[in-house]
Amino acid sequence: MESYTWRFLLRSAANQAVNWLFPPQQGTCLLCQRPLHEFQLGAGGDSESLAGMGPAPVGICFFCLQDAAQSAGYARPGVVSVKGRTVRVLPAMPYEGLARSAIRKWKYDGVLGLTDWFSSQVVRACKGDPVLADATCITPVPTTPDRFRKRGYHHVGLLATAVARELQLPLYSCLVRRPQAKEEFTQSQTAKSVTERRKSLAGAFCMRPGADVSDKHVLLVDDVVTTGATVEACSQVLFRAGAAGVTCVAIARVESVREHNHL
Ligand SMILES: [Zn+2]
Repeated sequence: MESYTWRFLLRSAANQAVNWLFPPQQGTCLLCQRPLHEFQLGAGGDSESLAGMGPAPVGICFFCLQDAAQSAGYARPGVVSVKGRTVRVLPAMPYEGLARSAIRKWKYDGVLGLTDWFSSQVVRACKGDPVLADATCITPVPTTPDRFRKRGYHHVGLLATAVARELQLPLYSCLVRRPQAKEEFTQSQTAKSVTERRKSLAGAFCMRPGADVSDKHVLLVDDVVTTGATVEACSQVLFRAGAAGVTCVAIARVESVREHNHL
């Protein structure tokens, strides 16, 4: 699966060329634009860490890290039932405050420098969990061809690649998302009710031709889990294809949606 469009790569290259010709005076935080210290700019050296947050990520200031540290660790795992099978959801943080604004910057504004930090948060959330002994491959929740073209990158694909690298598990992009109908594309997913969301996702995913997950335990990677409808739709396809188990790992979970499947 491709993670970037050519258009996005060309724009990034042009942007880098401009930065090289006219170097910025000082690096700033990816989230709040406060100036950063030398070691936070990725120039090497030991980065400090905050309790429970792992190594300080490149490009994020201490103010933002402290904000993130306050909310991290409070995300509660969830369970989605898929036709009698159970899929656990392991989020790294609740979808609020800094996590929310960071995810939006990453997802919509292309601040892809945040990918490695999100990946380390996801890995932290599932470290020590028995799923890691069972998991055989990592699969990103696929995006629609429309969204991929519009954004120029597949952020969840990039996250899954980073998580696979950190966990030393094979990346196996075995799911495909079908193009959405026009009216579905214009309506935001978050504005939909649980039932509407489930309905719009029915049949949205299928296996990539030739992909084989029989007897595999798939670690499904997503950015934000809201109602669990996406997890359910993807897991259903994976189970139908013979997967032995599915566990979902995500950066964040929306805590207030609890009407459906305990999510
Ligand atoms: Zn900051």
